[in-house]
Amino acid sequence: MTPKNKLALHWKILIGLILGIVVGLAINTMWTPDTWNALGVDNPSAYLNGEETTGINEDAGIFAWMTRFIINLNQFVGDLFMRGLRFIAVPIVIFSLIVGASSLNDLSKLSRIGGKTIGIYLFTTAIAISIGLLFANVLKPGTYVSEETRDGFVAQFGEQAQAKIGAAQKPDVWDTVLNIVPKNPFNAIAEGNMLQIVFASLLVGIALTLIKREKAIVVIQFFDAMTDVIIKIVEIVLMIAPYAVFSLIVVQIAALGLDILGSLAVYSLVVVAGLLTMMFVIYPIGFKVLGGISYNRFYKAISPAQLLAFSSASSSATLPVTMECCEQRLGIKEEVSSFVLPIGATINMDGTALYQGVAAVFIAQLYGMDLSIAEQLTIVLTATLASIGTAGVPGVGMIMLVIVLQSVGIPLEGIAVILGVDRILDMCRTSCNITGDCMVCALVASSEGAIESVEEVEAKLAMPMDEDPLDDGRLDE
Ligand code: ASP
Repeated sequence: MTPKNKLALHWKILIGLILGIVVGLAINTMWTPDTWNALGVDNPSAYLNGEETTGINEDAGIFAWMTRFIINLNQFVGDLFMRGLRFIAVPIVIFSLIVGASSLNDLSKLSRIGGKTIGIYLFTTAIAISIGLLFANVLKPGTYVSEETRDGFVAQFGEQAQAKIGAAQKPDVWDTVLNIVPKNPFNAIAEGNMLQIVFASLLVGIALTLIKREKAIVVIQFFDAMTDVIIKIVEIVLMIAPYAVFSLIVVQIAALGLDILGSLAVYSLVVVAGLLTMMFVIYPIGFKVLGGISYNRFYKAISPAQLLAFSSASSSATLPVTMECCEQRLGIKEEVSSFVLPIGATINMDGTALYQGVAAVFIAQLYGMDLSIAEQLTIVLTATLASIGTAGVPGVGMIMLVIVLQSVGIPLEGIAVILGVDRILDMCRTSCNITGDCMVCALVASSEGAIESVEEVEAKLAMPMDEDPLDDGRLDE
C-alpha cells in the first residue's frame, strides 16, 4: 500500500509533465544560437555530438560543458525509459494474449468476445475518421494558411517529408492479410511485428484450449506467471517515469517551432477538438451509457495510462500500464483485459485515424481540391485499414497518412506542411488511442459481466481510488 505521506506515482508523473512543459517553453523562448555563442560554442550540434574541435572556440568553458552534460543526461533518461517500455511491449502482448485466449476456455466464448472486440474497434475507428472529416469540412483549417506559408513549409520540410513518403508502402489487401501470418513466429518476435505477434499468440492460446486440459494448464500457468513477472518489471521501469516524462517533454517543447505552431494553429486545434470530442463525448456513450461506468470512475482509473501515452507517444509502450489501470483501477477481469487490450494497442488507433481524416482534408484544402463524398468515403475506408496497420510507436500515423492521401490523389508534398507539428499531435492522438482501447475493454467487460464494482476494486486494493495501485509499495520494502 502507498504510505500516507508518499505521493502517488501518477501525481509525480503529472508534475514531471508540467515541469517539462514549463522548462521546455522557457528554453524555447529564451535559448537562441547566440546563447550557444556566449557559452563559447560555434557549432552546437557538433559540440553536442562530442566533436570538441569543430564545435567550440577558445572561450568555451565549464558552462558549455555543464550544458552539454545536462542535455545528454536528459536524453539518456528519456531513452532509458523508452527502452525499458519497449523491452516490455513484445513479451506482455505474447504472455497476456496466450493467457487471455486460453483462459476464455471455449471457442464459442472466444469468438464471441473476439467478434465484439474487433467489431467495436473497427466501428469506433470509422466514427473517429468521420468526426475528423466533419470537423475539417466545417471548420476549413486549410483556408487559414496562405499559399506562401504553404510553399515555405514545403521548401523547409520537403526533404523530411520525402523520407516519410518513401517509408510508406502501398498495401495490397491480399498481401496485408497474408502478412498477418508469420512464416516464422520467432522472426516476428525478433522484428517486433505486432500484428504477427498478436496472430501467433492468439493461435497458441486457442490451440491450448483444444489440447488436454492437464497438459495445457502447465503452459497457461507458466505464461500467467510470466505476465506477473513482466508487470513487476513494469513497476521497476516506472520508478523513473516522472523524471523520464520530464526529459521526453522538455525536448519536444523546447524544439517546438512556436512560429510554425502559430501558422498551423487552426489545423492543430481542429485535430485536438476532434480528439477531445472522441474522448469526452463519443467514448462515454460506450463506457457510461452502454457499460454503466461513471465518467469519474473511468477517467480516474485510466489517467496514468493517458499521461504515459501522451508523454511517450507510443501505445505499445504504454500497454503494460494500460493493462494495470484497467485491471487494478477499473476492476476489469484479466480474462477480458489481457485479450482486448493487446489487440487494441496493435490495431485500434482512433486518434490516429481522426488525425488522418483532418490532415487529408486540410491538405486538400491547401491545394484547392474539393473532395467529393465518394472520395471522403474512400478516406474512411483507407484510414480504417491504415490504422490497423499502424504500429503503436511514435510517428507512424504520419507514414500511414501517405497511403490515405494516395488513395484519393491528394498531393503528397502537403505532408511537409504538417510535419512541424506532428510530434505534439502524435502525443495527443496516442492518448486518444489508448483511451479508445480502455473504453472498448470496459464495454466488452461489462457486457460479459467481467467488471467489478467500485467497492470491490477498493476492497481489493485496500485503498481509495485516488491512491496508487501502480506502485503497491512492495518495491520499497
Ligand atoms: N504514436 C501513435 C501510437 O502509438 C501512432 C501514430 O499515430 O503515430 O498510438
